[in-house]
Amino acid sequence: MKRVRAWVLALACAACAPEGSAPDSPGTPSTPGSPGSPGTKRAERGRWNVVVISIDTLRADALGAYGQELPTSPCFDALARESILFERALSQAGVTAPSHMSLMTSLYPTVHRVANVEAGAQSAERARRVRLSDHARTLADVLGASGRRTAAFVGRGNVIGELGFDRGFELFDQDRANGMNGNREELFDATRVERWIGEHAHEPFFLFVHTYIPHGPYLPPPPWDRAFVDPEYRGTIPSNRAAFYAGVGGDYAREWRSYWSHVRRDDPADVEHLRRLYWGETRHADDALARLLAALRAAGVYERTLLVVLSDHGEEFQEHGAFEHDGDLYEEHVRVPLVLRVPGHAARRVATPVGLIDVMPTVCELVGVAGPKEMQGGSLVPLLDGGAEARATFGETVLAWRVDPASGSRSILASVQSVRTDSWTLIARKSAGNTIEELYDRRSDPGEQRDLARAPESAAALGKLRAALAAHDARCAELARRFEGSEIELSEQANEDLRALGYVK
Ligand SMILES: [Zn+2]
Repeated sequence: MKRVRAWVLALACAACAPEGSAPDSPGTPSTPGSPGSPGTKRAERGRWNVVVISIDTLRADALGAYGQELPTSPCFDALARESILFERALSQAGVTAPSHMSLMTSLYPTVHRVANVEAGAQSAERARRVRLSDHARTLADVLGASGRRTAAFVGRGNVIGELGFDRGFELFDQDRANGMNGNREELFDATRVERWIGEHAHEPFFLFVHTYIPHGPYLPPPPWDRAFVDPEYRGTIPSNRAAFYAGVGGDYAREWRSYWSHVRRDDPADVEHLRRLYWGETRHADDALARLLAALRAAGVYERTLLVVLSDHGEEFQEHGAFEHDGDLYEEHVRVPLVLRVPGHAARRVATPVGLIDVMPTVCELVGVAGPKEMQGGSLVPLLDGGAEARATFGETVLAWRVDPASGSRSILASVQSVRTDSWTLIARKSAGNTIEELYDRRSDPGEQRDLARAPESAAALGKLRAALAAHDARCAELARRFEGSEIELSEQANEDLRALGYVK
């Protein structure tokens, strides 16, 4: 169930990859076939396809490659064995729209301002949202300008053209008929993606695919509805997907409420059952991934495709007292899978913490195109061949915007933000001028359960993290002035989609 927490604020930034410096720079010491080596010619990389697949709401630890012992992800695991896997990839927001927009722009959420929450909610009958500023350049803009054909197939909800996710795409397919809305009665259907890949196999392209398959309610289709659950479970959580959707008759808001009304929130057996149904959804998503990779192979383009598979955020199963994801930034919300399959590059596992915000500068460097100078992420290319770099990672979810009725300008009313180093996590909740801090030492408390913000022995660490966050805020506030964006009113169709996902009541 979505919590409504009346807190607080945030925002952020990191090292910038200066425009023009990344392409073809020799970079780190090379191994044969590495993107920086003479063996991988610029012309060759210039014709690589780029495919980014986002599986919404997918915890890293649901996958075998990240330690899951049940067979939830045979396709992902096989892909990971021939890819660069980032063991500690972190989302920049706890919810879908800001996280995906940070992926697509390499700007932090308080800079690009695209959020799940509406602006000036008090007077809005419909959700009014911010559309990405015309001044921002997206990964699709950059790759389209490099001569690649561009297409996106998305699961709608919070990843819709109205918010600016269509920027730079020749084709932005958010048609429900493509079956990407995996949390509704339709199952994932890759037919339209497969057709597009086949039609464009002869030319370089950028393809973005997004699906909500693991998103709640967790109703995996057979056989995954029973694959991982305890056969002795005697609770009331629905598991028959067909029967459940037949019973709600298209009232998706009621469906969402109905599902969670069957959950006994204080019963450990129900919590465990939800986890296991979620693992079934994970396997369902893995099947979808397999179908997409098969389409690339069938078209004969797999070997010249730079492939990125990731998720926008994780999912909570009461680690901190709640379910699903409401923008919070604990480990279970921000740890996501991230693999890069780079043509000709050996597989590797990278332990250095990285962010989804680093994906765009990395892709730009790998295919030899210049990204916007404002990118706040850093290229991960130095890590592909064994480099290491300790750095802080930031997260920020805006929970409420204040809109000035006279000027229409927006400011942050409530948010949550985080900064993580190798050892520490600081979470700051800001609301109406008040800040509540939580501090965790992940060396002894990896699950972030024991708040040390008021422990005297942690004062030095707290001070450093506060300073890092303040510096980050200052960088983002400066940059945000260039990307004001515009306020829009969502269509009724978009609102219906959001009701189906539990975001609009
Ligand atoms: Zn999401």
